[in-house]
Amino acid sequence: MIKFSERLERLSYSQTFVMSNKAREMKASGIDVISLTLGEPDFDVPDVIKKAAIQAIEENYSHYSPVPGFLELRKAISNKLKRDNNLEFKESQICVSNGAKQAIVNVLGALLNDGDEVILPVPYWVSYDEMVKLMGGSSVFIKTSYATDFKMTAEQLEEAITPNTKILLYSSPCNPSGSYYTYDELKALAEVIAKHPHLIVISDEIYEYINYETTHKSIAVFPEIKDQVVVINGMSKGYAMTGWRLGYSAAPEWLAPALDKIQGQMTSGANSVAQRAAITALETDPKEFRYMVDAFQSRRNLVYYRMKTLPGFKVLLPKSAFYFYPDISFYLGKTLNGTKINNADDFAMFLLETAHVGCVGGVSFGSPECVRFSYAASESDLTKAMDRLAHTLENAVIS
Ligand code: PMP
Ligand code: GLU
Repeated sequence: MIKFSERLERLSYSQTFVMSNKAREMKASGIDVISLTLGEPDFDVPDVIKKAAIQAIEENYSHYSPVPGFLELRKAISNKLKRDNNLEFKESQICVSNGAKQAIVNVLGALLNDGDEVILPVPYWVSYDEMVKLMGGSSVFIKTSYATDFKMTAEQLEEAITPNTKILLYSSPCNPSGSYYTYDELKALAEVIAKHPHLIVISDEIYEYINYETTHKSIAVFPEIKDQVVVINGMSKGYAMTGWRLGYSAAPEWLAPALDKIQGQMTSGANSVAQRAAITALETDPKEFRYMVDAFQSRRNLVYYRMKTLPGFKVLLPKSAFYFYPDISFYLGKTLNGTKINNADDFAMFLLETAHVGCVGGVSFGSPECVRFSYAASESDLTKAMDRLAHTLENAVIS
């Protein structure tokens, strides 16, 4: 019997894909499932970006690109970081990858030795802890809760840092909580980070445009820690280009060549056609794509007014990204229609099987008391989903 590597044995399947596949299988078997599992915009790629891709094919952009991406794209990213985030990064500091996912793995791979600690504020995006494990690191969790808008404080960060801490990794706007850190909160965190010059911050800003309250702020704006911060971003969420697989890192000068080195041995440059199209996307005024954010906002409002009336749900109004992350601890330890609910994953499975609404349990986000619903779906599906949840939960036999 051939044994798998210990590396693989440490790894779990991505719960977002597990639940979306399960919903897909039920649909294929004829069950009318509404899947609010995977977090991806339901919009098509905007025409201006599609046209740029078609032109790139016609112009025969069919060869390998440089490993960190075409220079023109890295220039466009550098300009975008200046335009939208007031950040100065040279083209040589940027590495374009197969999605933000790979951009994060590159950084972890470049920095972690076995046993190095990575601080993850909870809830964290499902893949962070698994990526850390894959790269030999060990995660240290900072617990946050519904009561604190799911955000860590500077004091909590300070307490979590040990001599083995190498990295702080978080997303703002946050998947799954929908919170974001304000300028003042980032400043307080930056003050702690500045006291630990060997601590590297991976700031995942992939939901930057999907913010209903304010313009996005990056922790990289604080000059005293600029050399400690890697900004992660990409085309998946703001431009509805999830399947085109394009993300990037903007890293300190000392770190950027290491990311190029890792990616050069793993996957080479990202898809050349998608890269050409991304130049057009990034050079277009972000206001052109605002219609998607406006739609997410009205869907958020629609879901909020329904979800807060669901029995046993404690819900915050998400301020950014496109997820609801209600606390459903009311149901834990109880039996629903004969099904024992030990944790949020059991509850998510109950909702899928009984209400035919798919969501993702919070266990793999670090919170076994929450479930995540993506509201990047049509208003009619969202309304139907809320009707089904209300019907199921109001009529459930709870013991
Ligand atoms: N970070 C976060 C917080 C995400 O939600 C996602 C979406 N899956 C990613 C990174 C990865 O995005 P990409 O599609 O660019 O790999
Ligand atoms: N980021 C999305 C999510 O959280 C897509 C799935 C994934 O990459 O895990 O659902």
